[in-house]
Amino acid sequence: MPVNVTTLAARLPSIDTLLRHPACLALIDRYGRDALLATLRQLLDDLREPARQGQLDASELAPAVLAGRAGERLAVQHRSQVRRVFNLTGTVLHTNLGRALLPDEAIDAVQMAARYPLNLEFDLATGKRGDRDDLIEGLIRELTGAEAVTVVNNNAAAVLLALNSLGARKEGIISRGELIEIGGAFRIPDIMVRAGVKLHEVGTTNRTHARDYEAAIGPRSGLLMRVHCSNYSIQGFTTQVSTAELAQLAHRHELPLLEDLGSGSLLDLTRWGLPAEPTVRQALVDGADIVTFSGDKLLGGPQAGIIVGRKALISRIKKNPLKRALRVDKLTLAALEAVLGLYRNPDRLAERLPSLRLLTRPQAEILAQARRLAPVLAQVLGEQWQVEAVPALSMIGSGSQPVARLPSAALCLRPQQARRWRGRSLLGLEAALRTLPIPVLGRIDDDALWLDLRQLDDEAGWLAQLSGLQLAEALR
Ligand SMILES: *Cc1c(COP(=O)(O)O)cnc(C)c1O
Repeated sequence: MPVNVTTLAARLPSIDTLLRHPACLALIDRYGRDALLATLRQLLDDLREPARQGQLDASELAPAVLAGRAGERLAVQHRSQVRRVFNLTGTVLHTNLGRALLPDEAIDAVQMAARYPLNLEFDLATGKRGDRDDLIEGLIRELTGAEAVTVVNNNAAAVLLALNSLGARKEGIISRGELIEIGGAFRIPDIMVRAGVKLHEVGTTNRTHARDYEAAIGPRSGLLMRVHCSNYSIQGFTTQVSTAELAQLAHRHELPLLEDLGSGSLLDLTRWGLPAEPTVRQALVDGADIVTFSGDKLLGGPQAGIIVGRKALISRIKKNPLKRALRVDKLTLAALEAVLGLYRNPDRLAERLPSLRLLTRPQAEILAQARRLAPVLAQVLGEQWQVEAVPALSMIGSGSQPVARLPSAALCLRPQQARRWRGRSLLGLEAALRTLPIPVLGRIDDDALWLDLRQLDDEAGWLAQLSGLQLAEALR
């Protein structure tokens, strides 16, 4: 005869008994009494029915066991919402996954700035009030050749602020081929409206000539703008006016040329075998009066928007009340200074700056890693999955070189079931990988799940959690 069911249900310990258990006292200390109480009530409610049905063993109702289960539930509830993940998507500077990873030097600087008071807006030489831009102005001028610098929260803010400061109530002249939208609803025409600049578009999508700009210039003109086509490319029958030519044209009419470089590299990336990106220094040499770019794209630093250019224009930008609303915080400044410092020695940059190190990882090394890991993963996934180490192509991401691909390698996971089950299997595996303690994010393509290993630094940590992969029985 089964356990006497009514007795077992009755044997659920009381809340009071549980609360006095030493394990529960520790949980109260950690999570607070109210949280533990709510969790215990829920747990006992959940157990009442199974206990009545005789589905539980008496040992499962021991106070120590129940306290352990409450502890597990509380740990999940109180888990931080900001979670580390493994980015095996193949996109290195992934906007949704936080873009660039900071070097140790920047992490140390952030810790210092977080932990102690600092000279954020205090001039230690004079003892007077200072300007936070001064902390990185020297370094950015040295690295870009700019006359002056100001830094804001991100590049979208930089563009908004520069446009509003230099072109409000006037016309901004821009090519139809550069009216871009960046992910997350950043659209140049909309930003212009918000900045109070009247959009004056010229030319066509594929071809815009100097004479198109020239014809548009008139008494209402405030500035010329050039925007880097970050996330798409126009190929075929195309013409674009160079920065140098556009700058000459603007200056003949005493207008400023504003160039939004997007990624804006500080150095010529071809020295590391990467596709060429326009450098900030070159844009300034070519005559752009203001150049804006991101801190966390190719630069490899924290989220920030950097505005460089002519002193008189930067000083107008700094006086704009919007600058105060868009300003950069102390943690960002600390990280940015440390990252910029690494650029002083380009010869060591690819070892020290994580984004550059990852972007330049040799394919042979990644493929060797994939070959090492494929059998381990095959073991975990079982017979229903084919696991192969294969060459793959990664992307830089964040709108840098949208068509360029970096030779890489991936683990390619293919379901072996009948065709009609494969889609569901893939989604199931993708979801299971997402529920790991450190979620693993890959990419589904061509009836397979691809884990691009370019960014798998912490191989041991990745392997350690694989055994916990919970695949629904149907997927095995
Ligand atoms: C990415 C990008 C932006 C926006 O920069 P954030 O730093 O993401 O705000 C603006 N313009 C261009 C051309 C870009 O590529």
